[in-house]
Amino acid sequence: MESVKQIIRDIPDFPKEGIIFKDITPLLADASAFGKTINTLKERYADKQIDTVVGVEARGFIFASALAYALEAGTTLVRKPGKLPYKTYQETYSLEYGTDTIEIHQDAFQPGERIVLIDDVLATGGTLAATLNLIRNNFKNVEIVETAFLIELDFLNGREKLKDTPIHSLIHF
Ligand code: AMP
Repeated sequence: MESVKQIIRDIPDFPKEGIIFKDITPLLADASAFGKTINTLKERYADKQIDTVVGVEARGFIFASALAYALEAGTTLVRKPGKLPYKTYQETYSLEYGTDTIEIHQDAFQPGERIVLIDDVLATGGTLAATLNLIRNNFKNVEIVETAFLIELDFLNGREKLKDTPIHSLIHF
């Protein structure tokens, strides 16, 4: 994944001062890098009998749908409030300032499904912790096999918040 890592672009002070934003659009635009990313994930989960790949808004959707296709699995969306049209479950979580909410459709999974979650960046881990709560609190019979990230920002220690669940990151900064 070293060659893929090289084409991720740093954008300083975006979306606000002090943040170095990891811009994955050059990776998505590069057929070889995007293909390598999805194939690496496919190899990891190919024999894990995955039923559904869960994408976290918004860049997680890109990887979730490509991986779901590669695994011949379905995909389901965890979204910001007010975006999903059918009945939803919600989870509200704390941010540095204020709170945020995420939603999932109430019929997102069938009992007994094995699922993988995916997002582009593991930063503080707050979004994933909330996503795991959302799923665990509302779908008792779903097995969360693992959560995959394209990028993990090691210096933010997001993994510490997520000790009770398997995490796999393709690229570390
Ligand atoms: P967190 O809840 O702190 O782990 O952050 C999760 C979300 O914020 C991820 O879904 C990322 O898309 C986005 N994010 C956080 N930090 C960065 C960063 N430095 N570069 C790009 N995306 C980021």
